[in-house]
Amino acid sequence: MGRRRLSNISLKWQAIQNKVLKTDSGCWLWQGHTNAAGYGIVTCENMTDLPENSGQVTVHKVSYLYHYGRLPKDKIILHDCDNKRCCNPEHLRAGTHLENSRDAQERGRLRGINYIKEYGCTRTELARKLNITPGNLSNRMRKWGNPYYKPGNR
Ligand SMILES: [Zn+2]
Repeated sequence: MGRRRLSNISLKWQAIQNKVLKTDSGCWLWQGHTNAAGYGIVTCENMTDLPENSGQVTVHKVSYLYHYGRLPKDKIILHDCDNKRCCNPEHLRAGTHLENSRDAQERGRLRGINYIKEYGCTRTELARKLNITPGNLSNRMRKWGNPYYKPGNR
C-alpha cells in the first residue's frame, strides 16, 4: 500500500516536471493551469497522502509532498520566492495562514515601495498617479499582497 502511494506521487511529480520552466532565478515555474488565486493546479487521483485525495491539487503542494515526504499538519505551504507558480521545493516552506497574510501584507507594502522607487515619487504622488487618496493607498497596498487581487481590480 505504501509503495503504491509513493509511486502515485512520483508519477505525478514526473508529469509535473515536464511542464515546468526552470528560470535563472531558481524558480521552477509551472506552465499548466492555474486556479483563481494564480497557483498552479493539477488533477490528482487516489493521492491518499493529500487531504483532497482526488481532484484539483496545487502543484507546489504535490512538490512539497514528493520532496519532503509528508505535508505538515495544520499548516499551509508558503512560497519564499513569492512566485505562486513556482514548485522548487527549496522555495517552499510550511507556515500558518497568519504568517501567509503577514507575508502578503509585507509583499503589498514592498510592492508599494517598489512603485514609489520606480516612479521616483512620494506616497502622495503615487496615490495621485493611481487616482486615489493617500489613505486609500494603504488599502491598495494590502490588496496587492492579496493572492486574489488582480491588476485592474479596484
Ligand atoms: Zn521559486
